Amino acid sequence: MTRLVMKFGGTSMADLERIRRAARLVAAEYDAGHRVAVVVSAMSGKTNELVAWTDGAGKATGRAIEGDDEYDVVVASGEQVTAGLLAMTLRNMGYDAISMMGWQVPILTSDVHGKARILDIPPAKLETALDAGQIVVVPGFQGVTESGRITTLGRGGSDTSAVAVAAAVKAIRCDIYTDVDGVYTTDPRVESKARRLKKISFEEMLEMASLGAKVLQTRSVELAMGQRVPVRVLSSFVEPGENIDQGTIVCDEDEIVEKHIVSGVAFSRDEAKITLLGLPNKVGVSAAVFSKLAAANINVDMIVQSEKRSGEYANQLFTVGRRDAQAAAEIMEAAKAEIGFDAIKVDENVAKVSIVGVGMRSHTGVAETMFRALSEKGINIQVISTSEIKISVLIDEAYTELAVRALHAAYDLDKIGQ
Ligand code: ASP
Ligand code: MG
Repeated sequence: MTRLVMKFGGTSMADLERIRRAARLVAAEYDAGHRVAVVVSAMSGKTNELVAWTDGAGKATGRAIEGDDEYDVVVASGEQVTAGLLAMTLRNMGYDAISMMGWQVPILTSDVHGKARILDIPPAKLETALDAGQIVVVPGFQGVTESGRITTLGRGGSDTSAVAVAAAVKAIRCDIYTDVDGVYTTDPRVESKARRLKKISFEEMLEMASLGAKVLQTRSVELAMGQRVPVRVLSSFVEPGENIDQGTIVCDEDEIVEKHIVSGVAFSRDEAKITLLGLPNKVGVSAAVFSKLAAANINVDMIVQSEKRSGEYANQLFTVGRRDAQAAAEIMEAAKAEIGFDAIKVDENVAKVSIVGVGMRSHTGVAETMFRALSEKGINIQVISTSEIKISVLIDEAYTELAVRALHAAYDLDKIGQ
């Protein structure tokens, strides 16, 4: 019999009525002949509440104390509740269901508390239960270290738990039930003509997720791509039978017949631009700048350097997440004499808008279409960065929506699937 993993997010677990609806969807897949493992999130809002409790009890730093192993003990508890409730609901419906906590499975992780990575899921216990016909309910987000301490995977981590469980039990697919009915060409709140994609490749989804589309946790897509686990994203607000041919399948590029040149437009307002003016144009300067940022754990995204006309000096600009902007500026300011630049500028009113599509590899003129569409709307491009399947531009934040809509139209994304 084929195995299937079904994952329900926080909004699908928000109250007993929603848990009953999830249970009906699980029961239908079981009745259709699958062996089913379910991965659940905490009730929506619960994890935030638990994190806030740790703030109060911790060292009064005013923020969550990730890295403290007791932080994980507290925040992992939300998923224990929903796993138990779903298993009980299934039992009431006459199914043989059992919950298994992260430490019972076990879901073995690194010991980076608050941001642990899954290292291994020995499948024996899960498989024995599944083979005996039990529906196994596993709390997402949590794991255990080799020494037996509870860990959590970082916010949004239950997507990753689900994909990891699917890989461990060799499931045919991992179905992620959530509060949207699939992956869209862009955020429908910004562009009402956004279309649901029937299929998207792992690579495109990875870019979309890391560029700000919040449907799936980035790490879960990485894992699905590495383990070749097909993922389906679909709405949990349906009854059994209504979910056929719904959602979006995230799969290998080879399985997508109808390929689009551009599949989506992603955007992120969580950006800040830092410019260093008058850097000496000599060996080792960039290394000096970026080693300081790396030492402070600040993630740098786009980087541009340009030589000044005389050739002796250069200007350099880079982008960081907005919450890191102040720290990055302070670090640079402190190293001003050592690195030898003239001045620093920080601009937090920027946004990154990106187009993503595997078709870019084989089509010309994709960048030109993007730049022309933006210029026709009078939008100035401050920075450009590209990869094989993506082009990102940094623009004034005020034009984010305008840019997203212009690009959506320029690549005819409103016609996808019609
Ligand atoms: N409950 C956790 C969170 O809110 C994990 C998840 O739902 O994916 O981050
Ligand atoms: Mg989520």
